[in-house]
Amino acid sequence: MGLHYILWIVLLYYLSLAELERCHGQTMMPEFQKKTVHIKDPARVEEIICGLIKGGAVKLQVITDFDMTLSRFSHNGKRCPTCHNVIDNCKYVSDECRKKLYELKEKYYAIEIDPDLTIKEKYPYMIEWYTKSHALLIEQRIQKDRLEEVIRDSDIMLKEGYETFFDKLNEHTIPVFIFSAGLGDVLEETIRQSGVYYPNVKVVSNFMDFDENGVIKGFKGELIHVYNKHDGALRRTEYFSHLKENSNVILLGDSLGDLSMADGVPNMENILKIGYLNDKVEELLEKYMDSYDIVLVKDETLDVANSILQKIL
Ligand code: C5P
Ligand code: MG
Repeated sequence: MGLHYILWIVLLYYLSLAELERCHGQTMMPEFQKKTVHIKDPARVEEIICGLIKGGAVKLQVITDFDMTLSRFSHNGKRCPTCHNVIDNCKYVSDECRKKLYELKEKYYAIEIDPDLTIKEKYPYMIEWYTKSHALLIEQRIQKDRLEEVIRDSDIMLKEGYETFFDKLNEHTIPVFIFSAGLGDVLEETIRQSGVYYPNVKVVSNFMDFDENGVIKGFKGELIHVYNKHDGALRRTEYFSHLKENSNVILLGDSLGDLSMADGVPNMENILKIGYLNDKVEELLEKYMDSYDIVLVKDETLDVANSILQKIL
């Protein structure tokens, strides 16, 4: 056997060891040791992350929910608003209307997170909630040019580590699809004011439709609610068909409805599903661990996602 041949074998052996080193042991990273992190099948998670690392930046895309996933559920013990709540709480909504919106939220949010109801059972109630609350917003004649101030004055907050998350994804031009059943106008202005609305970010959500005086007159397109993201994802075939090479997905969500956000991806190779569990933790943990690869309980950071991106990019 020639010396060259032996040297080649040795080199290949070390390269494969290095590859193994780079790929395995991901769940041993310090970010994964936090008590907020719950993983049902660590070996599978390692395998998926390995696939993401091997694929690198060229194959990656991120599909993420907004409310309570990119935005915080609570801060200093106080609940943070969803996009809708930003408007519900604002000074341009009358007290009487605010009361009605709060009553709707009381009733329907309980249904949204009820551990004993199936998605099918919740579905019609979500349509009811959105139809009623959107009708109230239209009645209030919300004005487009007041939104910037409303959002600036609100308590909506992105999760800790959002700068690293968006900066890194932008730096590597990784497509980011924010798919939200919130309010697109509030969402866009929030990420704009946070300085992270980069060109690699695409927002699909419920956008207000304004008349010629800039007063809300309805909503554009099909309604997106918490449990119809599957249909919405399939309507975005054009977006996903442009990303045929991006067959590796990191999906971030907080609702079981968010699991269908990647249903429009045509040729999925690897998908890592990261789920934030914020409410009814005891009742829902098992279900979340069965559905999401990584479950983050009451975690107000993007640390886990950032540590994985650090390995891939
Ligand atoms: O971005 P995401 O898809 O999470 O936005 C949906 C969230 O908006 C839901 O979790 C729901 O609780 C909230 N919502 C609300 N008020 C409404 C309708 C939905 O706070 N009228
Ligand atoms: Mg959400």
